[in-house]
Amino acid sequence: MSILPAAGARFAAQTEVAVVGAGACGLVAALMAKEAGAEVLVFERDAAPQGSTAMSSGMVMACETRFQRAKGVADSVALMAGDILRKNHGEADPAQVTAICRESGPAVEWLADRHGVPLDLVEGFLYPGHSVLRMHAPPSRSGAELIGAFTRAAEASGIDIVTRAQAMALHADGDGRVAGLRYRRPDGAEEAVGCRALVLACSGFGGNKAMVARHIPEMAEALYFGHAGNQGDAMAWGTALGAALADMGAYQGHGSVAHPHGALVTWALMMEGGFQVNAKGERFSNEHRGYSEQAVDVIAQPGGIAWDIYDSRLHALGREFEDYRQAEAAGAVFSAASAVALAEKTGLPPEAFARTVESVAAMARGAARDPFGRDFAAKPALAPPYHAIRVTGALFHTQGGLAVDTKARVLRKNGEPLPNLFAGGGAARGISGAHVWGYLSGNGLLPAVTLGRIAGREAAALARARA
Ligand SMILES: Cc1cc2nc3c(=O)[nH]c(=O)nc-3n(C[C@H](O)[C@H](O)[C@H](O)COP(=O)(O)OP(=O)(O)OC[C@H]3O[C@@H](n4cnc5c(N)ncnc54)[C@H](O)[C@@H]3O)c2cc1C
Repeated sequence: MSILPAAGARFAAQTEVAVVGAGACGLVAALMAKEAGAEVLVFERDAAPQGSTAMSSGMVMACETRFQRAKGVADSVALMAGDILRKNHGEADPAQVTAICRESGPAVEWLADRHGVPLDLVEGFLYPGHSVLRMHAPPSRSGAELIGAFTRAAEASGIDIVTRAQAMALHADGDGRVAGLRYRRPDGAEEAVGCRALVLACSGFGGNKAMVARHIPEMAEALYFGHAGNQGDAMAWGTALGAALADMGAYQGHGSVAHPHGALVTWALMMEGGFQVNAKGERFSNEHRGYSEQAVDVIAQPGGIAWDIYDSRLHALGREFEDYRQAEAAGAVFSAASAVALAEKTGLPPEAFARTVESVAAMARGAARDPFGRDFAAKPALAPPYHAIRVTGALFHTQGGLAVDTKARVLRKNGEPLPNLFAGGGAARGISGAHVWGYLSGNGLLPAVTLGRIAGREAAALARARA
């Protein structure tokens, strides 16, 4: 991933706005840039747009939407920004968080109403730290459906997505102004395209083991559950152009990936009354702090595994999620009429496990307090038959990246923007602060969609002004 001189570069074609990466950020940026009147080309290393976006649950956090109003949910930019900043203990930039929250509602309505992306408000449970219902997802609650809708919208808008095209180098002048990019085809052939503005939407560095070991050592050996193509290219180019990196130790972990099946088990099970035990049959944390930091706690348990424990009410809730249905189809769900029978099926120590189930029941009745500080009384007590899934903790997505401003412009170390470089989603500094515990559910797709939209608008304006 190198920077080549702009002077003397020969470009086979020219576009106004070039976008690297066809995940949520890249496709939203392209849709917006096109709508703003710019010629757009998207370059994607894979054969079809997928990215971590396709692997996600497709939950887009947004406030003040017509979907919320239709269900009587009162939300605001201030309330959502407050939830995000509370989770990261004020470590994120409040101006950036507010700009992203302000963009979120219009972005979701625009995607649904103008581009036919089938988003609706997700009801039935709140994610940790959410004051109100504000997740918007497609019916299957899967990122595959989301990226499919984005791709169809891009095609319908006449946007060319150049697939099997891995961006390898940027051409830039001494001032950091990008003149174009070089990309490589699977057969090794290289081509170069010139541009007036560039959007880096090629996400973070979760697929780059050396970068993870350097910036997030605690997850160096953990399962990486995001897109393998996210190799930190945006950070490499940005750094070479003099851009600042920020919050590189921040990431989205998850404490509930079915193991060894490799399917995401929704945290809704935990939020609505389920709990986790380790191989000794004992609880080890407050599951309601958040699924991101739970990844670290699960990995610290014997064998790096835990068991999600829940009942038939929650089994039905889980089945609303495509990932859960896949886990079930793969044989990940164990079911039994009693705690002891479930222990026999799963290999958990029966006495210790039965004691844990009884202690959770006592907390749900209000007869005991959770030593980890969780309030079990707020949800219905679990009732037999019980269900269990063996899970591990995983790294989903890195949250640190290129420093950007509220216009998605990539910033130099002195805070000045580079001339024509924009970034969003996993390529940019996120809104989760500097640690794993700062991730509020939804902090992944939110900056992908909103910064993507802002970057598309701003890149188009810049490119058109230079036309
Ligand atoms: C299992 C899982 C579940 C999740 N669920 C949610 C959720 O429900 N809600 C939420 O908010 N967040 C969720 N996230 C996080 C969310 O998926 C990411 O934050 C989001 O998808 C990032 O979008 P992006 O467009 O920046 O990156 P991506 O979607 O990863 O897209 C980046 C694209 O860039 C391409 N690329 C990389 N390098 C190059 C290159 N050099 N040249 C060309 N192309 C390149 C990649 O191939 C990829 O297609 C989840 C993550 C995972 C892993």
